[in-house]
Amino acid sequence: FFITVEGGEGAGKTTVLDQIEHQLKQDGRDVIRTREPGGIRIAEQIRTVILDVNHTEMDSRTEALLYAAARRQHLVEKVIPALNEGKIVLCDRFIDSSLAYQGYARKIGFNEVKEINEFAIEGHLPDLTLFFDVDPVIGMSRINADYNREVNRLDQEKLEFHERVREGYSKVMTVYRDRIIKIDANQPIELVFTAAMNVINQFVES
Ligand code: C5P
Ligand code: MG
Repeated sequence: FFITVEGGEGAGKTTVLDQIEHQLKQDGRDVIRTREPGGIRIAEQIRTVILDVNHTEMDSRTEALLYAAARRQHLVEKVIPALNEGKIVLCDRFIDSSLAYQGYARKIGFNEVKEINEFAIEGHLPDLTLFFDVDPVIGMSRINADYNREVNRLDQEKLEFHERVREGYSKVMTVYRDRIIKIDANQPIELVFTAAMNVINQFVES
């Protein structure tokens, strides 16, 4: 199964994925954990270019193309081979991030971003996506309390941008209704984990 986790800044994706990965391994599942942008050498290098705090001149469409390029390489090099070996792939972000951030929040257009991503993924959509829906005020306060977090170019964005990302995700949910499940990520992280784990267990056992 290809399972992705989505949501805005401070939704708890990385923290909860640590716990989900641990739990699934304890349950004897063959699982690999990865992330976007990144996950493999070439895509991690593209990530560095995209998120460089000095790259303030980055054009939105350039950004969208770089995300799609990183996605493609990560998919063919890591995700598809793991799926072919019967593994559960847990991925921190995927196509829905591009639709919400570049398509909607950066206003490139949903269909424009969908098109370049369809080119990149050739139909390899996730089997299940968990959308961690968080109020940006709560999300940003979690981020500001996390001293270990790497600083990136998105940290320069205002609350309004993160509100648009959240709206973008809601729109994405209406398009991919059958694949995406929303989880209330305003709850304490422990409850977000429990809710996410319930959904995943139901899915892998059905
Ligand atoms: O999830 P993570 O914090 O690793 O993502 C790194 C940064 O890239 C975040 O600030 C996120 O908002 C940004 N991003 C983006 N567009 C995407 C994916 C991630 O702006 N399509
Ligand atoms: Mg994260």
